[in-house]
Amino acid sequence: MDLFFCSLSSGSSGNCYYLGNEFHGILIDAGISATSIRKFLQSRGIPMNVIMGVLITHNHTDHIKGLEVLIRKNCLPVFTTRAIWKSIPGYCRTIPHDCIREIPVKKKFHLAGFDIEAFPVCHDAPETIGFHISFGGKRITFATDLGHICETSAAYIKAANYLVIESNYDEEMLANGMYPHFLKARIRSDHGHLGNHQTSAFLADNFTDNLKDVYLAHLSRNNNTPETALNTLHKTLSLKGIVLNDRQRISVLDRNLPGEIIKLD
Ligand SMILES: [Zn+2]
Ligand SMILES: [Zn+2]
Repeated sequence: MDLFFCSLSSGSSGNCYYLGNEFHGILIDAGISATSIRKFLQSRGIPMNVIMGVLITHNHTDHIKGLEVLIRKNCLPVFTTRAIWKSIPGYCRTIPHDCIREIPVKKKFHLAGFDIEAFPVCHDAPETIGFHISFGGKRITFATDLGHICETSAAYIKAANYLVIESNYDEEMLANGMYPHFLKARIRSDHGHLGNHQTSAFLADNFTDNLKDVYLAHLSRNNNTPETALNTLHKTLSLKGIVLNDRQRISVLDRNLPGEIIKLD
């Protein structure tokens, strides 16, 4: 049973990810315009009518910007918790209520052939969740906005064979950058974002042969570069004596452009 992943956009300016099987697909977040979502999917040979629903992680604009138009134009169901739906700003309120499917956390539900479980993460929105999704024995975890990896999120991250995980900022670039003090403090806080060293240290401490692909996600435009994030992870793994086997891949998701469709096998 084939499983396909494609990042349409990943970063502080907009997040949207596609996960598909042979028949259907789902989107995780809709933080870019509905037009870009349709065009990016089309450019990868994915028609909108295979999309069976949209999972939403939290109410920040970079995760919901295109949601309202996307849902109104395509009549798709939206899966998120009650607290997140209630916190979503007014411009999304024209979404018909019968499109909203409230989901619990830490309890499986089924959609388009996928088993999906939301889990809570620490972030500065009214509620924020990650997703752990299984299909045909393969497990992928999405954890894109979290200030630190708590015990609960750690369990879902460690259970993944494929991992989309935030590596938002380089600690030195943030410290020396132009952001005001309060914003730097917010980003670094336990309810902000994960820095390159935080993500790398966690992965190095928990790296096993079960983890096949790591996709570093949600990079900051001003406080990170793909090379810095990738180098930090490679260095941290090598300091721990971890050598990737030839089935393991580590890469960075592009901030603005859709990636290729990746078959997860
Ligand atoms: Zn975000
Ligand atoms: Zn956020």
